[in-house]
Amino acid sequence: MDYRALADLLFPNVTDTPESLEEKFPLRSAPEGAVITRMAPSPTGFVHLGNLVQGLTSERMAHQSGGVLFLRVEDTDAKREVPGAVEVLINTLKHYGIQFDEGATIDGDAGSYGPYRQRQRAAIYHVYAKKLVEQGMAYPCFCTEEQLAAMREKQESNKETTGYYGQYAMWRDREMEEIQAQLDAGNPWVLRFRSTGSIENQFKFDDLVKGKLTITENNIDHVLLKSDGIPTYHFAHAVDDHLMRTTHVVRGDEWLPTLPFHIQLFKALGFKLPKYVHIGPLMKMDGTSKRKLSKRKDPELALTFYKAEGFPVKAVYEYIMTILNSNFEDWRRANPDTPAEDFKFSPKKLNPAGSLFDYAKLTDVSKNVISKMDAGTVYTLLTEWAKEFDPDFGEKLASDSAYATSILAIGRGGKKPRKDLAVWKDAKDYMGFFYDEYLEKPVFDEKFEKATVIDALNRFLEKFDISDDSGVWFDKVKSITTEMGFTTDMKAYKADPSAYKGTVADVSTFIRVAVTGKTNSPDLYTVMQILGYDRTVERIRSAIAALS
Ligand code: GLU
Repeated sequence: MDYRALADLLFPNVTDTPESLEEKFPLRSAPEGAVITRMAPSPTGFVHLGNLVQGLTSERMAHQSGGVLFLRVEDTDAKREVPGAVEVLINTLKHYGIQFDEGATIDGDAGSYGPYRQRQRAAIYHVYAKKLVEQGMAYPCFCTEEQLAAMREKQESNKETTGYYGQYAMWRDREMEEIQAQLDAGNPWVLRFRSTGSIENQFKFDDLVKGKLTITENNIDHVLLKSDGIPTYHFAHAVDDHLMRTTHVVRGDEWLPTLPFHIQLFKALGFKLPKYVHIGPLMKMDGTSKRKLSKRKDPELALTFYKAEGFPVKAVYEYIMTILNSNFEDWRRANPDTPAEDFKFSPKKLNPAGSLFDYAKLTDVSKNVISKMDAGTVYTLLTEWAKEFDPDFGEKLASDSAYATSILAIGRGGKKPRKDLAVWKDAKDYMGFFYDEYLEKPVFDEKFEKATVIDALNRFLEKFDISDDSGVWFDKVKSITTEMGFTTDMKAYKADPSAYKGTVADVSTFIRVAVTGKTNSPDLYTVMQILGYDRTVERIRSAIAALS
């Protein structure tokens, strides 16, 4: 077989050469040990937590080492194409703060190793496809779907491994005339790799997460180019990561089964093999057993979920660091105010079997993260969230930023800041009563007679002075308590509840419910200071009227 003639026949329009591409995309001048890596997601319209785990791992490895992170859009699967998915992908990654140094952006490509969208790279793949054909390492296959199905059926009934290999590789050694006849007839073809591997042979391989692996050689003649000339993931990965000068491939471990083929392909193409970082799946507890997070069953797999709930990006980031590197939590305790980027991330610390995702833990982390923010930051992030997910609330927040910020400042700062908010979605319940339209009707504990509640509220109104400091204010509440036969002595009350009508906590609750519509609220004295004299009095009066 004249392979050169076959290559010309299959790729008459390829004029570029591997050598010219090598020159066009030279080795990067990066410092010693710098990691050049990428995110290479497929634009399916669904961006998930796994993408973020992979993204943050790549980002840390690149930027911690003075390397480069780029975004490559793997859009070779036209069947799975969703309109607008590339924009969703880019915007979501941007929202989560993954900083790319180059690659696909909303406004096109940025960087000198592009194009960064695989469908625009068809001509490049064909250069290497042609080279493989010339070297007898790839050949066209004209099998129909029916033939492939029949082959599979036969293999299954013979209890043999399925796939296009050995005696089943029907187009492996055909004559030029047969190929020419198929081409003349206009029959579609795919380009297959001519595998020289044997499943009898094994070799050792080092993965940065999985450790030492024993790999069995690949003997399958996998497809390199589909019938539309677009490459499969395998071929595109080899060509792209070589020409883009990737040093580390960080990806999900669902690619491990085809790793033997990838290694073989890099060798056949004369490319240096990058280092591999295969990340295990995200798991969750389901009852007492662990399982993979699933797109169908777990809404929390989608990144849109976290945005809609209102988790600050920083909280998601901190949480992911917690599950990826077990020493992150200790580091965070020792360095509470240091930016998370200063943590020394190590891919070696990733759990090879996958990380356990725990929603309750994420919520805790988020409470901590929000409690450390200043009121201005909370205001900005909350308002941004509300404008998108609760526009009415968003408008209220935006209409008076000083007012909203003073509310959000309650309990902030100091050594033990309050942890009232885990997600922005919680905020309306927490602070909504500051806005008259959201104030709920006060409902008092029926254990107390209405007249008692009214009495307490009237006494408070008589004594209320907005210029009191919190000490004087509370002394007044305490004096109402004792005047009415309630007690401020909790111990005494516990010892003999029948001796009192109730405690100072009950009296405070009457006032709290009248002013906020809730039995729980931030510090009541501060609430009144923010509401001001008139609104506080008006609320207490209308609660009295409703009770009378
Ligand atoms: N497009 C592949 C995926 O989404 C990329 C895998 C890789 O990073 O190489 O799984």
